[in-house]
Amino acid sequence: MTARRIDGKAVAAALRARVADGVAAFRETVGRAPGLAVVLVGEDPASSVYVRSKGKATTEAGMQSVEHKLPETTSEAELLALVEELNRDARVDGILVQLPLPDQIDERKVIAAIDPAKDVDGFHVENAGRLAVGADALVPCTPLGCLHLLKAELGDLTGKDAVVIGRSNIVGKPVALMLLAAGCTVTIAHSRTRDLPAVARRSDVIVAAVGIPRFVRGDWVKPGAVVLDVGINRIPGEDGKEKLVGDVAFDEVQHARAVTPVPGGVGPMTIACLLHNTVQAAKAIAGVS
Ligand code: NDP
Repeated sequence: MTARRIDGKAVAAALRARVADGVAAFRETVGRAPGLAVVLVGEDPASSVYVRSKGKATTEAGMQSVEHKLPETTSEAELLALVEELNRDARVDGILVQLPLPDQIDERKVIAAIDPAKDVDGFHVENAGRLAVGADALVPCTPLGCLHLLKAELGDLTGKDAVVIGRSNIVGKPVALMLLAAGCTVTIAHSRTRDLPAVARRSDVIVAAVGIPRFVRGDWVKPGAVVLDVGINRIPGEDGKEKLVGDVAFDEVQHARAVTPVPGGVGPMTIACLLHNTVQAAKAIAGVS
């Protein structure tokens, strides 16, 4: 038996095409394009790559992309002042401050300073709270991407047993809340969970967001389950070059119904969902449906 390889690139491309249609409709109604501001502090190579691809994807979707690159030595006060300026800027509908930030800056203060209406990463406590109580919210992009992939694969998720491995504010917790809202019975597992393989084995859906290569093994997965691998781990490849692997031993879970590869699974959905969130934010700010 071979598990279906969920093509995150294809699902993301379809979502990006819908976003581009939404952008065109917004331009026609409001007379301008939605705008996304991305702020990068320092020169972390992975962050620089992400910021570049976010800018490119934003422009390709027909939106206005504004990039702010600040030096590694930027103070917290300087960054907060920029966030305030972007909050006030009527051309900016979404603000994304690329994490991690240098040590001298408190991430929580910066996230708290972003206008929740422009918080397209969905990390502001107001949006996290709205997600938790089931109100309309801007929700984190990677978890939203997971839900899109699962719905594309399974349709209605009502009644499914789901386990989310990982409880971070960025991935684990929001994915779990979204699965709950979709009608799943959800277990959130973490480093203190007892007998995780047994918990995983009774699940119809497994979302792995741990950050440990090949953490989820074949005998943790029941036949017919759907496995989403959020992990992005850089390990040395056989050719000596760095390669990307997920949190799931992909070759061992071929008795699953479907599984996301790394790369090419959950990853491409994150930027597509960021674009989606930016259009949602722009529409809410402009008061159009
Ligand atoms: P964190 O490090 O913040 O969280 C990891 C979670 O895994 C924690 O809740 C931790 O538990 C849990 N964990 C660690 N070890 C174990 C263990 N032995 N057994 C069970 N649970 C364990 O990571 P993130 O949530 O930010 O990211 C997770 C992965 O997803 C990373 O590889 C990251 O690179 C990737 N990622 C991918 C994205 C994408 O676009 N595809 C976007 C964001 C992240 P505890 O809380 O108890 O410590």
